[in-house]
Amino acid sequence: MVNSDALLAWYDANARSMPWRVPPAIGLAGKRPDPYRVWLSEVMLQQTTVAAVRDYFERFTHRWPDVQALASAEDADVMAEWAGLGYYARARNLLKCARVVTHDHNGRFPESYAALLTLPGIGPYTAAAISAIAFDLPETVVDGNVERVMARVFEVHTPLPTAKPELTEHAASLTPRKRPGDYAQAVMDLGATICTPKNPNCPLCPWQQQCLGFARKTAPGLPRKLAKKPKPTRHGIAYVLRRSDGALLLETRPDKGLLGGMLGWPTSDWTETPTEAPPIAADWKSLDTQALHTFTHFHLKLTVKIATVSGENLPDVGQFIPQAKFRAADLPTVMRKVFDLAEDAFGET
Ligand code: SF4
Repeated sequence: MVNSDALLAWYDANARSMPWRVPPAIGLAGKRPDPYRVWLSEVMLQQTTVAAVRDYFERFTHRWPDVQALASAEDADVMAEWAGLGYYARARNLLKCARVVTHDHNGRFPESYAALLTLPGIGPYTAAAISAIAFDLPETVVDGNVERVMARVFEVHTPLPTAKPELTEHAASLTPRKRPGDYAQAVMDLGATICTPKNPNCPLCPWQQQCLGFARKTAPGLPRKLAKKPKPTRHGIAYVLRRSDGALLLETRPDKGLLGGMLGWPTSDWTETPTEAPPIAADWKSLDTQALHTFTHFHLKLTVKIATVSGENLPDVGQFIPQAKFRAADLPTVMRKVFDLAEDAFGET
């Protein structure tokens, strides 16, 4: 029978080191992780890998070491630090949540799944993860790693996403009353390092003896997944306007919608056939290479247009950022791609 003891023993010896994690030996000695750091890491990790998040996490916690500090931050500073992590609604909700925790909960994250769920940007997965990891409550945390491990251990052939409730039930059946926080992290570590998508390293697995997928040699093909619909492609035009003193025209995108609240170049709409929307009449030059980017639901092909103006006429949108103040790192990834192409082209003019 599968149980958590073997997995916890494996975790005690093999836990991955992460800047927001309290190592199991220190946890067993009574130290709990900081809920602020757990929350921040979980929000950053949604749709993103540990490797991608580490540097962002270090920068954020260096600049804003606790939830009160983050609550007092300027929105634009937080959005700029988040640039490149994607899924920008998360950054806006991060700020909202920090402010609610600071002002309505005296700067302390509430210690229950139900109360955490009421906070901005915290859904069932994040509430369960914070409850388990920060407060050691027996909530079941199910991410892609956990789904894969459960599908293999219990040999579930139902494809995802249909199998989600069944896999969650299996995961819940294994969640122990003792050390549920470490258990949640242990299953995720097992999925990330041993029970990997392509070549599970079963000889090193603490659950090998009980794993049905291993015994029946079906594990590598699990979990099954329903075929995804192909993503549509949208098109758009990005306008990079440079003033003769080197300042660049940028706009803060509307809060609602894709890349909401982030800095970017003025663009047309993103559709099958975009309509030209230059921010100012100028001698626009179209670049040969497009900026390509993939969002969750579509691919985007942006035609990049550049122009230089003297600065006497003011554009319809945005504001000029002086060359010395412009940091490409403050832009979301797709806008950085546009800038890289434009910068090369300006260099040639
Ligand atoms: Fe995954 Fe292999 Fe362990 Fe089963 S035995 S849980 S397939 S690593």
